[in-house]
Amino acid sequence: MDRIVSISFGEIALKGANRKYFEDKLLKHIRKVTNDLGRPKVYKEMSKVYIEAEEKNLDEIINRVKKVFGIVHLSPGYRIEKDMKKISEYAIKAVKEAIEKKDIKTFKVVTKRADKKFPVKSMEINREIGADILKNTDNITVDVHNPDLYVYIDIRNNAYIFTEKIKAYGGLPLGTNGRGLLLLSGGIDSPVAGFMMAKRGIAIDAIHYHSYPFTSERAEEKVKKLAEILARYCDNFRLFSINILDIQKEINEKCPEDEMTIISRRFMMKIAERVAEKNNLDALITGESLGQVASQTIKGLNVTNSSVDIPVFRPLIGLDKSEITVVSKDIDTYETSILPYDDCCTVFLPKHPVTRPKLSDIENSESLLEVDNLINKAINNMEVIDITI
Ligand code: ATP
Ligand code: MG
Repeated sequence: MDRIVSISFGEIALKGANRKYFEDKLLKHIRKVTNDLGRPKVYKEMSKVYIEAEEKNLDEIINRVKKVFGIVHLSPGYRIEKDMKKISEYAIKAVKEAIEKKDIKTFKVVTKRADKKFPVKSMEINREIGADILKNTDNITVDVHNPDLYVYIDIRNNAYIFTEKIKAYGGLPLGTNGRGLLLLSGGIDSPVAGFMMAKRGIAIDAIHYHSYPFTSERAEEKVKKLAEILARYCDNFRLFSINILDIQKEINEKCPEDEMTIISRRFMMKIAERVAEKNNLDALITGESLGQVASQTIKGLNVTNSSVDIPVFRPLIGLDKSEITVVSKDIDTYETSILPYDDCCTVFLPKHPVTRPKLSDIENSESLLEVDNLINKAINNMEVIDITI
């Protein structure tokens, strides 16, 4: 007997000729996140993926592998010989373990016989093993319609038994959709935006703007912490950290007060576009959500957007704050996001920001600034931080 984790993937099963490419990426990522837990063997058997896990590492392996995109669910279980006696023994064991963990009154055995050469047919296995379980346990009965517990038996090159399906995030393996640059603030939204795009297969790097010393070092630590939480899903990445205080001072001095936010946002986008181009990143990702704040009206977003040519992904555009918060709590960034440190946007916050900016007005105001010079200076002083899991 060996302890294993069985892995089910969803959408990539549909990828036809590219399936191998997607699977290889997935296997590579699984190996990477489990490597320091005794280098467990990750293998394919009749088109399903399994991890050989030492008992003591099982929970941590599941905890980490659950965050690998492309996986729909995973199941801790047993790998045994294809022998009815053994199958019976471990099915009973698995049921007894499940009973210890939660209140179970009914069960059902579900067998899949991928190896058609195995002499006992699925229905027969269900019946026989079901009867053995009844004989060897107390106070549980069979319910084929709505059981408290499913006992899964998979007959492949080996036999596999499991009783639990732990939900993972689905999506596509990281890196199967290129690489993008996440504009990461310290707030609730942008980490969620990064998570959502990474789930669709985009590997990410991140860029953060600060106004040190107007914003504190602790605010920087907070963003780094958020990046590290994201790395559990997105693998190691780079965090480009850029001081925009000089730019903000210039805007504050030379442009109308109510345009401060929108012009700063255009600078953020332009800087991000340059950094993306230099580093072969094919899209920008932001946490903007329609109507959330003054700069995120349709007109505001349009004026922001027209500062760059690179595609900009806004996965939160149609979500309410409450929906974003649910994801944020789920992926564990929420508690860090709500720490109360200043963001650079709050440093020169106008009292009444324009909600219906006109591009021509904004461009007029920007013509009072040495835009290229300011951008180059900011990028020249950029700090690059390696974020590791
Ligand atoms: P968040 O929770 O992400 O801070 P928000 O509701 O506060 O979002 P804004 O401050 O208007 O929204 O910012 C919108 C988006 O612009 C953010 O989601 C993020 O992608 C980007 N952004 C804002 N501030 C910064 C910053 N300091 N550094 C990098 N990106 C930023
Ligand atoms: Mg913000």
